Amino acid sequence: MTGILDSFGRSINYLRISATDRCNMRCIYCMPPEGVPQMSHSEILSYEEIRTVAQAAAELGVNKVRLTGGEPLVRAELPKLIKMLSQIDGIQELSLTTNGTLLKNHARKLKQAGLSRVNVSLDTLKEDRFQYIARLGKLKDVLEGIETAKKVGLQPVRVNIVVMRGINDDEILDFARMSYENESHVRFIELMPFKGIAESVPSIEVRQHIGMIGKLEPCPSITGNGPATYYRLAGAKGTIGFISPLTELSFCSRCNRMRLTPDGKLRPCLLGEDEIDLKVPLRNNASMEQLKLLILKAVASKPEHHHLKETNDRPVKRKMSQIGG
Ligand code: SAM
Ligand code: SF4
Repeated sequence: MTGILDSFGRSINYLRISATDRCNMRCIYCMPPEGVPQMSHSEILSYEEIRTVAQAAAELGVNKVRLTGGEPLVRAELPKLIKMLSQIDGIQELSLTTNGTLLKNHARKLKQAGLSRVNVSLDTLKEDRFQYIARLGKLKDVLEGIETAKKVGLQPVRVNIVVMRGINDDEILDFARMSYENESHVRFIELMPFKGIAESVPSIEVRQHIGMIGKLEPCPSITGNGPATYYRLAGAKGTIGFISPLTELSFCSRCNRMRLTPDGKLRPCLLGEDEIDLKVPLRNNASMEQLKLLILKAVASKPEHHHLKETNDRPVKRKMSQIGG
């Protein structure tokens, strides 16, 4: 088994790297309309520093890396980072989570640099609603981005939808029907609390609703283990996944990841405040062995589960865009 065993027997083999805190959208559940104060360029890890952390993690058994943000495609020369990461021994899968607005222009270069596949976040198929939810950007660009990603072979493309009651829950069936189309994979995500913005819809309710158009049969993940549970509509080529941090009891028991923030903090849990600083050691020329010890320390401090239910709010020190979702 690859990965680093944590205190609860989970194998941690997946590193999510937030390449930037900047974003060209302002999704209502992620950021206020005016955005959040930006980190200075000197605070953000350089590509060389990110590579060093990924190298140390890979030497410990991490074999999957995902780039996220903020919006990773707004960082200059992202394909350069992808190429650097793809050359690390042991990293078998390199993927990207994006809002898709810049994907059309970048997809080919990303593929050539060694990216395996992309997840695209898209919460509505209606232009006016897109303006309401994302505040910036254009739906047309995201849809063209998805098509281009498929064309250049960044597959499987997965579309992630955050379901919000009274905002986009009337589009659940439209998204589910996408899975009938040429291998489109869609995943419904439970909204994590962002005070006063919207109400989350439990995955079970979404699943029952989709049951109206066909029987959902459980099926394995197309890309190995992770936080989602997967189903397939009879006759569909693509899958339908559910990510249920709020309502699924076993959600945290399947956690296989840790996160690196743009400013070089390793976060054992998305929904906890704990962070281990790697930037200062990196800039003080820490050895690979020292970095590995810090990574092991972060894994050892992974909590058994998050406390969203009890606190009903996400961590306050950082916004989702500063962690990477
Ligand atoms: N900008 C990229 C994007 O939107 O895909 C990558 C960063 S974004 C923070 C990563 C993921 O976090 C997206 O799929 C987004 O929908 C999700 N996300 C952000 N805030 C969330 C919230 N409050 N609840 C659930 N998912 C959230
Ligand atoms: Fe930007 Fe992604 Fe947050 Fe939307 S969810 S504001 S696209 S970082």
